[in-house]
This record gives sequence, structure tokens and C-alpha cells, in this order.
Amino acid sequence: MKKIDSIPSAMKALVAYGPNDFRYEDAKVPEIDEDEALIKSLGCGICAGDVKSFHGAGMFWGDKINPAWQIPPVNTGHEFFGEVVAVGENAAKKWKISLGDWIVPEQIIPCWECRFCKSGLPYMCQVHDLYGFQSGVSDGGMAEYVRINKRSVIHQVPKTFTVEQGVMIEPASCAAHTVERAEIKFNDAVVIAGMGPIGLCKLQFAKYKNPRLLIAIDSKPERLALAEKLGADVVINFTKEDSVKRVLELTGGYGCDIYIENSGHPSAVVSGLQMIRKSGTFVEFSVFAQETTVDWSIIGDRKELSVKGSHISGLDGYEIAVNFMKNGLLRTDEITTHSFPLSEWEEAYSVSAKGVGSIKVWLRP
Ligand SMILES: [Zn+2]
Ligand SMILES: [Zn+2]
Repeated sequence: MKKIDSIPSAMKALVAYGPNDFRYEDAKVPEIDEDEALIKSLGCGICAGDVKSFHGAGMFWGDKINPAWQIPPVNTGHEFFGEVVAVGENAAKKWKISLGDWIVPEQIIPCWECRFCKSGLPYMCQVHDLYGFQSGVSDGGMAEYVRINKRSVIHQVPKTFTVEQGVMIEPASCAAHTVERAEIKFNDAVVIAGMGPIGLCKLQFAKYKNPRLLIAIDSKPERLALAEKLGADVVINFTKEDSVKRVLELTGGYGCDIYIENSGHPSAVVSGLQMIRKSGTFVEFSVFAQETTVDWSIIGDRKELSVKGSHISGLDGYEIAVNFMKNGLLRTDEITTHSFPLSEWEEAYSVSAKGVGSIKVWLRP
């Protein structure tokens, strides 16, 4: 085991105990064995999912359909990266990492034993441990130190990255995967609904596929202005105009070829199904806090749509995200708008939830 001299025994962490019960408190710095590493968290983004977990969304804490998945008490946060401060001998070999390296673990910690892990789809792992959600297994990055589970998938982060870029790797990795799932073709009219941090990355990745028309939808003028700057051909504020009507006008009355739902609002599913053309592709990515109600017959009887899901970062989302950022191809500097010290997490969560004037809010442990 190699480690730096100055690792303390206690640290501060934001611990999730349950819905509306997150606490900033003292925690023990995790101990590691020869298969693991310890990083000092350099920053951790607040995900829309984190805010929904804090407010008690059923997909995290269980409801009449979903079993509980989040196991408290757990140090929360999955959008982090950090500096290696201790590394076991086996871990150093396996991950090719040394003290002082900046690394990012993929948010999912595959079990490597289930049917999905064994058949080459570890990001669909049946066990599905994710940093920041399962007590003792996967404590997350809203803490000063994070134990890197031996089952993790690790990527190097270039030291040229700003901390703001570091916290955007996870959201960008999810964006890359969704855009790959969409299989955009040159002649496609593509709509992306929801210009939050991930939506703004999806827009940039989609632009590299060179579709005929790239349309961004949101309700916030400043996000739409940034979408325009980052490559949208057309931006639509659905609170100011009828987005379905506008997309139909822009596509000769047919509708868009591909609709990427990235907003997490039930209304975006309903309008998306309206503005997509027959035989089009609907890609769903979001985490919803409420159920969606829609006439399902539009998928089969009326339009014969292809409906695809997109789950986290796929197989190579992290690699793509780090490479695009390293090469200056993915701009995140105007997406990371606000940061707070970890102690001010409450204010940070509230700024993130409101999303007025802010896009990505991140914490400094
Ligand atoms: Zn996230
Ligand atoms: Zn598995």
C-alpha cells in the first residue's frame, strides 16, 4: 500500500439518511485494502437525480412500483473526481494508477457476476451499485475522501482539466451515450428537450453527427441562449410558443425524425410523441419525479415508433467525454455556473433545484 502522509482520520461528508433528511456531519475517512484506492474528492456536481432523491422520489426510496434502491446512511454524490492519496498494490496494477493521479470512477460499480456484467453490459448490472447510493458499498463524492471500490471502472483525468471540467465528466458521459443511442443520420431533424447540463452536452455531441436540423427546447431563456451558442439551429421556448406546431412547421408537417427526452417532465413526453414523425425514434433518458400519463396507442397504432431507453454512460461514455473535453471539442465552461463549499449544501441544492440563472451547481468538499 502506498499513501501520502497527511490523510486525517475524520472528515466532513453529506450523508443521506432518507427523504428530506440529508446531514452535513463528521464521518470516518474510509480505510482501504490492497485492491482499493482512496481519493480526495476535488469536486462533486449536484445531479437532478440527487435533488429528486433529497425530495423523496420513489425511484430512490421505493414506491408502489419501485423497490427501494438507495440504502442509507450513505455519503451522497456520483458526479465527482479526485486525487489518489492512497492505493493498494493490486489496485495500482489493475487500474494503472499512482499517488497524485487524478481519476474518475464510473458512477456504476458493476458486480462482474450477473448476466449483464458477464455478457459485456456492465452498465446494466443487475445489482446496480452506484456511487452515492448504497451504504458501505459505494459512498459518494460529497465528502472529503472516497474509497474506490475494487469492482470500479477507473479513468485518468488529465491534469490540464479545471475542477469545473472534472465535475462535468459524469454528466457528459451520459450525454455521449444517449446521442450514440439515438443513431443520428445526416438527413435527420433532431429535437432535444431539456437544456440542463446534460442536455447542453447532448446538443454538442449531436452537432458532431451533423444532422440536417438540430432543435433545442427548454423554458429558460438563458439556457436557450447558451444552446444557440453551442450549436442549436433553432431554439424553442415552450412557455412562449407551441413547440409541437413549430417543429411540425420546421419539418414540412411530418415532425422530427429523432426526439431525445432529457427534461424529466411528463409534459415533454406528451409533446414529444406529438412532434415526432411516423416511424421516428424516441429516446428517453430522464429521471422523473412524477408519473407520465399518455395515450400509448400513438406508439404502435398511429406512428409505429421506435422507443429506446438510454441508461447512464453506456460502455464508453467516460472515454468519449474525457477525450472530447481534452481536445476542446466539448465546452462546459458556461454550464458550470455555481459552486459552494460542501457545508453550504442546502443552499446549493436549492439553487440547483430552482435552476434560475444556474445550470450546473457543484460542491467543493
Ligand atoms: Zn448524474
Ligand atoms: Zn452485474
